[in-house]
Amino acid sequence: MSVIQTVLVSPTCGKTLIVFSLKIGAVLCALLLRAGSLESEELTRVHLLGTGGTISGGSSGSLSASEISKLVPGLDGVAELSVEDFVTIGSSRMTPDLQFGLARRVRALFRERPELSGIVITHGTDSLEETAFLLDLLGVAEKPVVFAAAQRPPRRSDTDGPRNLLNAIRIAAAESMGGLGVLVTMNDEIHGARDVRKTHSIALNAFASPWAGPLGQVDGDRIYLFHRPARRLELDVDRVEPLVTLIRLYAGSDGSQVKAAVRSGQRAVVIEVFGRGNLPPKVLDAVREARKLDVIVVYTTRTGGGRVELGTESKQIGVLSGEDLDGLKARLVLVAAMGTTTDLDELASYYRQLSGELETAVGN
Ligand code: ASP
Repeated sequence: MSVIQTVLVSPTCGKTLIVFSLKIGAVLCALLLRAGSLESEELTRVHLLGTGGTISGGSSGSLSASEISKLVPGLDGVAELSVEDFVTIGSSRMTPDLQFGLARRVRALFRERPELSGIVITHGTDSLEETAFLLDLLGVAEKPVVFAAAQRPPRRSDTDGPRNLLNAIRIAAAESMGGLGVLVTMNDEIHGARDVRKTHSIALNAFASPWAGPLGQVDGDRIYLFHRPARRLELDVDRVEPLVTLIRLYAGSDGSQVKAAVRSGQRAVVIEVFGRGNLPPKVLDAVREARKLDVIVVYTTRTGGGRVELGTESKQIGVLSGEDLDGLKARLVLVAAMGTTTDLDELASYYRQLSGELETAVGN
């Protein structure tokens, strides 16, 4: 792992955290109190881990984490920043092994440097939602861990990278932003790792949390928290399972993708099925064969929102519902969990926890 450098040294001063919450009262008071205690602190230390992507220059020449931090206007007075390049890649080359290594690095940093307020990770936008969610599942974020990226590279005068990075450092420096899980900030918004997605290839407001909304917003030097993420899962694992594939159904799907996945040795298949949980007979045949070989199968909807319900036969053969997670996120639950367990009840309970289902059904 590369050498850690401290690039800017300046005391934190006068940071104000303003919180809007529907749950005024205890939560609000607690947050304001903790925000107040920041003012008495001498230094707020944030560590920046660079992984590449457009924010660091993309294909036209990558800047190091140290170089991109120097492009941020107004960093003086926000935090004392140390920097480190974890990898420098376009995020389409990200892998579960690299993501797991990144999670371990974050954990080690918090252990070795208890003085750190938070960690910022710069990342390509293409697979950011996956890395952020896997790290969230791996429970690395007792203190703020914030991803920042850019749609436009530093060579462009209208680059969004420096603003996004400054916002991420502000969030990571705010003690009150701990306990929210891994966060992503783009375009002045703050998103939770479970729900955030890249929804557009070029727009500055490409990152959104469909059906959930952003957790908060950054307005200049102020951070606004709208709500806390209720649907989270943290797993304590010492390995991940990369052999989990994702398939999307289409009119005419004949099960051949499922068969090919099984033949190639995948240990689990997540299928984005039609609507509420529908699939054509030939795909169900292929799923039946996969289950006979103990390949884990999870359905999630290809619509982009809403839960799937399993049909009678799918239930009988031990298919799992990915609930309302999209295919990418449903897959990552298996990547995180299957290095440790392949127990169907346990895996199903993880999806239920992430769905937000209450223990007791109320009426019908
Ligand atoms: N190709 C870039 C990536 O690494 C795109 C970006 O960062 O916006 O994901």
